Amino acid sequence: MKYDYDIIAIGAGSGGLSVLERATDYGKKCAVVEAKEIGGTCVNIGCVPKKVMWFGAHIAEAIRDAKDYGFHVEQKGFSWKTLVEKREGYINNITTWYAGYLKDLNIDLLQGWGSFVDEHTVKVGDKTYTAETIVVAPGGKPLVPNETENADLGISSDGFFALTEQPKKAAVIGSGYIAVELAGVLQALGTPVCLISRKDLVLRGFDDMIRETLTEEMIKSGINKHYHFQAKKLTKEADGTITIESTDGQVIKGYDQVIWAVGRETLTDPLALENVGLSTNNRGFIEVDDYHRTAVPNIYAIGDVTGQAQLTPVAIRAGRYLAERLYNNQPELIMDLSKVPTVVFSHPPIGTIGLAEHDAKKQYGADNIKVYNSSFIPMRYAFTEHQSKTAMKLICAGEDQKVVGIHIIGDGADEMLQGFAVAVQMGATKADLDATIAIHPSSSEELVTMRPMILK
Ligand code: NDP
Repeated sequence: MKYDYDIIAIGAGSGGLSVLERATDYGKKCAVVEAKEIGGTCVNIGCVPKKVMWFGAHIAEAIRDAKDYGFHVEQKGFSWKTLVEKREGYINNITTWYAGYLKDLNIDLLQGWGSFVDEHTVKVGDKTYTAETIVVAPGGKPLVPNETENADLGISSDGFFALTEQPKKAAVIGSGYIAVELAGVLQALGTPVCLISRKDLVLRGFDDMIRETLTEEMIKSGINKHYHFQAKKLTKEADGTITIESTDGQVIKGYDQVIWAVGRETLTDPLALENVGLSTNNRGFIEVDDYHRTAVPNIYAIGDVTGQAQLTPVAIRAGRYLAERLYNNQPELIMDLSKVPTVVFSHPPIGTIGLAEHDAKKQYGADNIKVYNSSFIPMRYAFTEHQSKTAMKLICAGEDQKVVGIHIIGDGADEMLQGFAVAVQMGATKADLDATIAIHPSSSEELVTMRPMILK
């Protein structure tokens, strides 16, 4: 063999592992370079620990509502430490399993930061390794804005997952996925939260119905929402709390933790891309085409580093398809990024696929779009003191009313969406949803019982 390996992936996260796993199916000799833990962000400091915390928050909410169902229970205390220890134990099991799995698949784990020496050679520590194909999948890290003075008095999502004690009061700065997820978890677990956005509603880019409903529900849950607040300076006070000042003179005081959740940046610095003539674009991403090819023929990039939707299943699909193209004679296999289902584990959760109403109107013309809405209090909250709303929107386009967007916020949205995503992927129309028999009583039945287009 001309090279040490058929393929090396830089980064043992969702993308890097998936391309190699599939490559081994075709008998390829593989290695993965990883400086930290196997599993990357998702397993160690992202989706997995976040979901554990989200489950914890749900249990707190169930205890809150239990009295309305006749249970004589009250929350007498909550041990953040216990939850974190259990969570980390679970994650350790996953990473230990991964290490064994890599061995079983004969994938060599090269521990350290990987950097390019040339287009076929990667340096890890003081050793070099060659491969016919190299896949760059280093993921990213949380962004901490350098325009805010003393920004590092705050922590990022990485710092959140390192907390061994529950914050007494937390200020979350940002308005994307991570901001709303962490704010929701903390508030439900008993930490008073303020959410600080530099603009107005949370989740820019999502359908307005989702943005408005979530913002409303977060405020209803007790989260103190600050709008139009651009953090200029953080100051540590004598009592250990942090004061946040905005560019226009507003002041927020008394929070022992400030959490930045303002986006992520790619981890390209260690790669020495210049050694292979690659660079990042002005947003920090490595540009790829539909086949995940970079400007260097044998070097591919997948996952967060490409600027495509920063979602684990997108990176996994990219990795698997790349292996299929490279080693299984399927050169035309490309991902359809127009129908990526995504869930935000907020309180309540959100499930969405396809176009937001404003995008659908732009793409198809307002006259060619039909929108169906439903909003209700689910039965779970029929007689509880605390009420949480569910809202749904279907966006259909053209004469045949093809479903081009589904947006759900409410309990169960996270599990509801996947099946509907299959329907959207298959090109379902409103008539297909109308023809589907409902499941009763459920929230999801609303999606197949919205004002039928044709009564049959
Ligand atoms: P997002 O890109 O989701 O949101 C960041 C938002 O923060 C921006 O849209 C912006 O909103 C706001 N922002 C940016 N800079 C500042 C600033 N200086 N001060 C205040 N607000 C600012 O980033 P996240 O960090 O939340 O998440 C990164 C990515 O990780 C997500 O996009 C998602 O792809 C992925 N992720 C997915 C999850 C899931 O699948 N459930 C969970 C967590 C993350 P605005 O312009 O409105 O101010």
